[in-house]
Amino acid sequence: MHYLHAGYSADPESEKNQRVFMVNLFGMIGTIITLVMGLLAVYRQELFLALALISSSAGFQVAHAYNRITHKHNISENIILYGLFVLMFYLVFNGGVNSTGPLWIYIVPAVAFFFKGLKGGIWNIVIFISITSFLLFFKDGALLNSHYTFEFKTRLVLSFITVSFLYSLYERARLQSYRKLEKMNEKYEELANTDQLTELPNRRGMRERLVIEFNRLGRSQSAFGLIMCDIDYFKKINDQYGHDMGDQVLKSVASVFDKNIRKQDVVSRWGGEEFLFLLPNTGLEDTYKLAEKLRTEVHNRVFESSEEQLSVSVSMGITDVTLTDSIDVGINRADKMLYQAKKQGRNQTWSTILDN
Ligand code: GH3
Ligand code: MG
Ligand code: MG
Repeated sequence: MHYLHAGYSADPESEKNQRVFMVNLFGMIGTIITLVMGLLAVYRQELFLALALISSSAGFQVAHAYNRITHKHNISENIILYGLFVLMFYLVFNGGVNSTGPLWIYIVPAVAFFFKGLKGGIWNIVIFISITSFLLFFKDGALLNSHYTFEFKTRLVLSFITVSFLYSLYERARLQSYRKLEKMNEKYEELANTDQLTELPNRRGMRERLVIEFNRLGRSQSAFGLIMCDIDYFKKINDQYGHDMGDQVLKSVASVFDKNIRKQDVVSRWGGEEFLFLLPNTGLEDTYKLAEKLRTEVHNRVFESSEEQLSVSVSMGITDVTLTDSIDVGINRADKMLYQAKKQGRNQTWSTILDN
């Protein structure tokens, strides 16, 4: 297992690791088969064949070692695929054991599609079968060191083309379902991270952004701002105007926020009538300014129901988060500041500076 996982990257589920695994697997199988066949050829004293097989075996080992040392699987893939091509040409030329060597060419479509994908695979197979046909048919076998009947050669090439065609259909279907799955996954991911009412990121989506931004702090040595915002007396709005109107107000407030933040900022629906803002690269002072701007914007806005007009206010608690904090410590601090803003009479912004 250690052998097959050589050259893995840190992320255990990455697509790259799958390919690395296959490079190692193909390399290993190639090494063993060609080595065994090579030793058998030595036993039969077919020295050229033995040399070709044993050096291919060594070539597969080189591909594996290259992948292990440099973690560049592309080059190893090329070594394996083109090493295989050369070995196949040799088997066709030489005939292997009693002219059965060419039967091994059916390995090529599987390896070519796996390493080169659909388009690249087709190209490589076309080139491979063209060269093979040239070897087989040129001046009725003048290039060959072995004899095949005309019927054998035509059937070999035609059945190879048929197998390759079927493989390409299979590869195409596989690719299509893979893409479909990827799209579904993206959609699901987005759905799971979005609040349906306000269309803002929900708590889960915001957590992801917070983690990304917090990890970025390490490199930039800066801070990001947090604003915890809660609509004042929201229960009253529900009680007085009904739950549907409450929902409308939530949507409108969300849209006011969304329109008034900067491009790099994120606003999320953190809870029922609570919003959390993430302001990358923003100190306490600028966070305060933005919070005040947003608070005034909401307060000045008139929300209309079918019969009445109403206005709402919000309270804001702000803080800045640096590397010495954790995400949860930062959120707790913003929460405490929000509590202070409520206690001081609502419709205001409270910050860690005011608290000291
Ligand atoms: P405070 O100024 O202290 O924040 O008072 P408040 O009334 O806003 O606070 P409280 O936490 O007592 O009430 C929040 C209300 O928000 C209660 C809940 O029914 C309502 N709410 C939460 N989520 C939704 C929602 O999605 N739609 C509607 N219409 N109401 C919601
Ligand atoms: Mg409230
Ligand atoms: Mg609340």
